[in-house]
Amino acid sequence: MKYISTRGDQTQRRFCEILLEGLAPDGGLYLPVSYPQVDATTLARWRGLSYADLAFEILSLYIDDIPAADLKALVHKTYTAAVFGSEQIVPVRRLGDSGVLIEALSNGPTLAFKDMAMQLLGHLFEYELARRGEQLNILGATSGDTGSAAEYAMRGKQGVRVFMLSPNGRMSPFQQAQMFSLRDANIHNLAVEGVFDDAQDIVKAVSNDLAFKRQYKIGTVNSINWARLLAQVVYYFAGYFQTTQSNAEQVSFTVPSGNFGNVCAGHVARMMGLPIAKLVVATNENDVLDEFFRTGTYRVRGSAETHETSSPSMDISKASNFERFVFDLLGRDGARTAALFGPTLAKQGAFSLTAEETAAIAGYGFQSGRSTHADRLATIRSTYERFGDMVDTHTADGVKVAFERVEAGVPMIVFETALPAKFAATIQEALGREPTRPAGLEGIEALPKRFTVVPPQADVIKQYIRTHCD
Ligand SMILES: *Cc1c(COP(=O)(O)O)cnc(C)c1O
Repeated sequence: MKYISTRGDQTQRRFCEILLEGLAPDGGLYLPVSYPQVDATTLARWRGLSYADLAFEILSLYIDDIPAADLKALVHKTYTAAVFGSEQIVPVRRLGDSGVLIEALSNGPTLAFKDMAMQLLGHLFEYELARRGEQLNILGATSGDTGSAAEYAMRGKQGVRVFMLSPNGRMSPFQQAQMFSLRDANIHNLAVEGVFDDAQDIVKAVSNDLAFKRQYKIGTVNSINWARLLAQVVYYFAGYFQTTQSNAEQVSFTVPSGNFGNVCAGHVARMMGLPIAKLVVATNENDVLDEFFRTGTYRVRGSAETHETSSPSMDISKASNFERFVFDLLGRDGARTAALFGPTLAKQGAFSLTAEETAAIAGYGFQSGRSTHADRLATIRSTYERFGDMVDTHTADGVKVAFERVEAGVPMIVFETALPAKFAATIQEALGREPTRPAGLEGIEALPKRFTVVPPQADVIKQYIRTHCD
């Protein structure tokens, strides 16, 4: 399998060439030249495989520059019951007989779905860097979930260091405890005196210093990384197999969405031939995507219009993976995709598809919906009262929208993208009680914390990296 850019550069690259990269050189995102097709015979063969074996089958269709035995070992090291809490890895449970089900993607080390892909990325990075005899310094900014998932995936890995910037004092106590209690020598927590955008700006400034970037082998692990997206395709298949008896049945998915990474993997699974009826994009008050799927207009929000909500991992002003779907929707017209996401967005902050293009969206199964803080509270409460099921704030956005979209005869699977323990304040507000906490995490706030407070200056961060690389 070869990979091309969404912005028209037709250079074909192999999986391991794009593994450690972010954007394509022309500023686009990588996609495979075509989607491998999965027929009924293949689906029948995959039904009943363990999660790791299923992951191996799917990844093999997209990765031909890692020997099969090595790839198999990597996925088996990644998807274990010890790391993800159960043999199914992503267990599906029913909400009574409502037709709505929940697939748990959040039983990994940091209790959020980003572990599903990031844990694999950690093993892939270590493998590929050893093969090349190279080192990589991952520089990132986080407001919570991404940073901790990256640190737990990369901790102790050979050849990798992580420098993770976070806004000092602004993460939840639980998130701070999760990240700052790590003691691995290759993990560096830098608490920036400022807000998330300050941290993000520093990452951009450092990455734009190309000489520094090259000398210190600076890389990222953000959600546009193709390997992360590919790892996420697997749990659509796993959820389908757990929910259905035969491959003649269809299911729908509702996905709590921010940067469109999670649901974009669903688009890939559907393009491969997995019988998905609907892919429902659920947003919070930051409804860039809901607006697009209702109107065909994509309008990036300014910072004044970007809301801080109680489902903070979905607080986005633009959806960084969205370009991948638009490229497919436009018949893989790289020039038009480049024009829309380049000059048009830069000049107007928005673009509108033609009526014909907008009408074509339905053919890809997409629908959308939106949820507010009041909806989250009501949904957390009703899900707990009706089904005895405690869901987190992001999952609640999904459950709210799923009940609006569920159709008779088609199971509707909502992704649980985080556990309630991570967002205790809102659970307390909704239910008047503390969320349950998985075993082993009872006292993490009391553990010693290891982090360095830094001013919001790129030069200081560069100096810190230099000092810790030599
Ligand atoms: C990252 C995240 C999301 C949003 O996923 P995208 O891939 O950005 O759409 C939703 N919920 C939680 C808990 C997350 O951490």
